[in-house]
Amino acid sequence: MGTFHTENPGDQPVWINTNNCKACDICVSVCPAGVLAMVYADSSTLGAMISIEHPESCIGCNDCELNCPDFAIFVADKKEFKAAGFSFAKLTDEAKARQAAIVANNYMSLEGA
Ligand code: SF4
Ligand code: SF4
Repeated sequence: MGTFHTENPGDQPVWINTNNCKACDICVSVCPAGVLAMVYADSSTLGAMISIEHPESCIGCNDCELNCPDFAIFVADKKEFKAAGFSFAKLTDEAKARQAAIVANNYMSLEGA
C-alpha cells in the first residue's frame, strides 16, 4: 500500500493521504479552526495540495473527514487520541480569525506567502 498515512500516525489530530487529495478546497472551507489550507504544489497535476498548517488548533470536529469526497483526510478518534496522551484544542478567537483569513485568501495558505 505504499507509504501514505491512512492509519493514525499516533500523535497527530488530523492527517492526509496526499495520494487521494484532489485539491477541491472542501475541507478547508468547512474547518472552523484555520487548521487547513491549500499550498501550491508543482508536483501535483492540480498545482495545489492540502496542507495541515495548524494541527495544534484542531478541535476534532470531524467536519473535514466527513466532507472530503475522496477519503483523503482523517481525524483521530477522540478516545484513542486521549488515551495516547493527546487532546484536541478548544476553538479560540484566534483560530476563528485565521479561518476567516484563509477563506478570504481563496483557501490558500497564509504561511510564507
Ligand atoms: S476535501 Fe479531501 S480531496 Fe478536497 S482538498 Fe480536502 S483532503 Fe483534498
Ligand atoms: S477535525 Fe475539524 S478542526 Fe480539525 S482539521 Fe478537521 S475540520 Fe478542522
